[in-house]
Formats: sequence, structure tokens, C-alpha cells
Amino acid sequence: MPSYAHLVQPGSKVNLAKISTRAPKNLTKEKGKALTVELAAQLDELEDLLYFAGDHAVLVVLQGMDTAGKDGALRFMLQNMNAQGVRIAPFKVPTEEELRHDFLWRVHKQTPGRGEFVVFNRSHYEDVLVVRVHNLVPEETWSKRYETINQFEALLTDSRTIVVKFFLHISKDEQEQRLLAREEETEKAWKLSVGDWKEREHWDAYQAAYSDALEKCSTEAAPWHIVPADQKWLRDLAIAQTIVEKLSPYKAGWMEKLSKLGALQRAALEEYRKAGASAPSGT
Ligand code: ATP
Repeated sequence: MPSYAHLVQPGSKVNLAKISTRAPKNLTKEKGKALTVELAAQLDELEDLLYFAGDHAVLVVLQGMDTAGKDGALRFMLQNMNAQGVRIAPFKVPTEEELRHDFLWRVHKQTPGRGEFVVFNRSHYEDVLVVRVHNLVPEETWSKRYETINQFEALLTDSRTIVVKFFLHISKDEQEQRLLAREEETEKAWKLSVGDWKEREHWDAYQAAYSDALEKCSTEAAPWHIVPADQKWLRDLAIAQTIVEKLSPYKAGWMEKLSKLGALQRAALEEYRKAGASAPSGT
């Protein structure tokens, strides 16, 4: 199966305008949805193994322009995994307390423990995106953050966290359609925001900031994946496929650990039964 997300090779240049936001010609929606069903079942199984084996943590980072479909992607993941081991961590405008600390303070606290699958809805990357586009701190400050982010993510991967980073890539036209659709659909009116139209005026600055973040922070340990996101079914397919590919190499180890644990539990149960059978009754 070809990869439906675009892997940003470490050290390579990113030209977002040249990366498609739509499905390749030979992939129909029907075929894509059928593939997603298969991958979603694998995702569910892998997340269960991750949870019970407790050997690794998974951190999924979700970034994208407004309306890129972060909420839909979250819903897709939650629907296809055991909610017990999954947690969503949203990152909003920092509070006063958060602003009194370094930019990773609030982020580090939300990282997954072993066995946990955590999805960041926005992330530490906002500190080189919105912060850069709106000059919220001087360039001298944000420009140092790429390296700090790489070191932070290396710390996580060295501590057995599997980091999967997604940039949901939509076209400017698709964003306009989605913003207009919100105005027409009464059930989506709550999502309307003048702020989204205002942010759209900074489209080019955001694309430039995203390109830099994708280029500077795609590392061997924690590479970026660009997800074509104009079509929601393709977005879900690419996300499921990428996570399954990232977790599959660990599957055999998790299963082995669980089968060893199973053997220990069985032995303990047998001991208990034997002891119970030989113990005097009624005492
Ligand atoms: P979404 O579009 O992800 O569903 P939202 O726009 O509905 O989220 P908001 O309550 O607006 O949710 O919170 C997200 C806002 O917080 C975004 O505008 C984002 O740019 C901003 N934000 C997140 N992190 C930071 C940061 N470190 N500094 C400044 N602004 C930030």
C-alpha cells in the first residue's frame, strides 16, 4: 500500500504549495474508506496492546490551519480506540501562569506515561507558529525554539515515547469553503468565528511558519507527516495508516510481554488453587 501521508525526510526542504491536499487519482473514496476500516481495526488492537503491555507511550501531535479538521481527526481516533488508554490534551492561548514559565512547562506535564496514548490538539508548535506570525515574542526568542523542541522530543523518544506528528494540510480554497459552510449550517454556527477570517489574512505567513517548523523539526526520531486533508475520508485514512505503521514494529514485543505476564498469572492461580485444596476447610 502506498503511504497516503507525506513523510518529511529529515533535512529536506518543504514546499507546501507543491504537496497535494487531495487523493491520488487511483484512489477512490470507496476504496479509501474500505482501507480505513481495516486500518482502524489494527489501530484498536495496537492501542490495546500498548495499554496492557505498558512499555511505551504514544504522543500524537495534531497541527493544522483553522478548519483543517483537527476535531474530526480526534473524533476518528477516539471512535477507533479503547477510550481507557486515550487522552486528549488541548493547547489554547496560554494562561498568565503558563506565560510565567518556559514554553514547554505546560506541554511536558501533558505528555503520556507508559501505556498511554495522548493526542495533542495543537501543541508546543504554536510557540513557533501563532507566536511567530503575530510577533508575540521577539524573533530572537522564537528562533531558538526549534532546537529546543528537537531536544525536548529527543528526550521523549529516548524515554520510550513514540512521537507521531501530523500537519493537516488543506488548500486555501478548501478553507474558504469550510468557513462559508459554517455560516450556512445552523448546527455549525457555534463554530463561527470572526477570528478565523482574520487569521486567514495571515495565510501566507502561517504557511511559511509551518514550512519552517516542518523542515527544522522533522528528525529521525520524531519526523513530521503531512496529511492531505481537503477530503476528510483521506485524512482519516492517512492518519490511521501512519499510526499503524509507527506502532506495528512494537507489536511482537508487546505480545511477548503479555504472554509472559499471562503465564505468570496462570502459575499464580495454580499455586493459589493448590494451596486452597490442601488448606484445612472451615478454619
Ligand atoms: P481549534 O481550531 O483547534 O478547534 P479553537 O480555535 O476552537 O481550536 P480556541 O479556544 O480558539 O480553540 O484555542 C486555540 C487558540 O489558542 C488558537 O487560536 C491558537 O493559536 C491559540 N494558542 C495555542 N497555543 C498558543 C500559544 N502558545 N500562544 C498563543 N496562542 C496560542
